[in-house]
Amino acid sequence: MKPIPFIDLGAQQAHIRSRIDEALARVLDTNAYIMGPQVAAFEKQVASFCGARHALGCANGTDALMLALMALEVGPGDAVFVPSFTFAATAEVVPYLGAVPFFVDIDADTYNMDPGSLKRSIRAARHSGQRPAVVIPVDLFGLPADFDAISEIVREENLRVVCDSAQGFGGKINGQMTGSFGDIATTSFFPAKPLGCYGDGGAVFTNDDELAAVIDSYRIHGKGADKYDNVRIGMNSRLDTVQAAILSIKLDIYADEIIARNRIARRYDDLLNNQVVTPSVPEGYESVWAQYTIRVANPETRARAQAVLQAQGIPTAVYYPIPLHRQTAYEEFPHDPAGMATTDQAADQVLSLPMHAYLDEATQDRIVEALVAAIR
Ligand SMILES: *Cc1c(COP(=O)(O)O)cnc(C)c1O
Repeated sequence: MKPIPFIDLGAQQAHIRSRIDEALARVLDTNAYIMGPQVAAFEKQVASFCGARHALGCANGTDALMLALMALEVGPGDAVFVPSFTFAATAEVVPYLGAVPFFVDIDADTYNMDPGSLKRSIRAARHSGQRPAVVIPVDLFGLPADFDAISEIVREENLRVVCDSAQGFGGKINGQMTGSFGDIATTSFFPAKPLGCYGDGGAVFTNDDELAAVIDSYRIHGKGADKYDNVRIGMNSRLDTVQAAILSIKLDIYADEIIARNRIARRYDDLLNNQVVTPSVPEGYESVWAQYTIRVANPETRARAQAVLQAQGIPTAVYYPIPLHRQTAYEEFPHDPAGMATTDQAADQVLSLPMHAYLDEATQDRIVEALVAAIR
């Protein structure tokens, strides 16, 4: 049988190819490959899409996090609270700045940062002489993190929040969109993310004029009046003009794609209900379904299901088989003193199915039938 793509970028491209070709031709005509006019145009478009005051393009989602922490002056002695059940980039930037990533457990239903675990972790960090500085909630699998509960803790404890919306950009809590939450929010335009470009790309969002100015400086070598006037030690992290031009077209269809992703997720829910644990979306929340992630009983059942599906041309993925607090590079860093049981269990049970806005019903039926037979 014909192999099914995990994310069908080809189907999306067929839909917008002529517009992409025209946009690329315009970039080639102007020869402005770095910070060309398409970059500022996309920044304006994406800021207004999510309701943030400022959007600043950068080279990738990891740099976006780095720029955010640099702007908040994170450094040695600081503790930065991150989930362990996330992609390494969330934590990676913290030790680079000399600070300590402190791993927080997740909620069993949403896979997002557990506010109770965050509270315990902040207390533990303070007790061990670290200065709690920043919390980085992640919108895992496209579902916005529990921003209300987290921001209340952050307010009480006087910390700052950087929302890692690499997977959740475009999601909503009570009508408000990710990108507009937190002191700073970040996203990634890696091709497989819900809003992806055709290479690497990222963005930083903030409502704070001063932070925006500092981030703009850091992303271009700590520029002052221009890049030959260096007022701080910065980096080189810009969004390419070509990628900005592509993103403008992709953003035009993104709201419709989010609707399609939600329709497809609801259909998975209906078809898989009572067979596996389907994802839960709290009241008032809207996911962008970066992943449609189910739970099965144990790693053995999961491995068997993956092999059976793979043999039928159906790809699946495990995000994430080894949580960060168990990774060689990160195991020395502290975590919630009460343990990371929910994270460990999720790592053993989760399984992500093909998910994108162009998944047709016949293909979805084929995935579901194969999965149900495989785990029976
Ligand atoms: C993809 C991802 C990043 C990093 O984005 P890149 O553009 O690949 O650098 C950061 N955080 C999370 C949660 C991600 O999924």
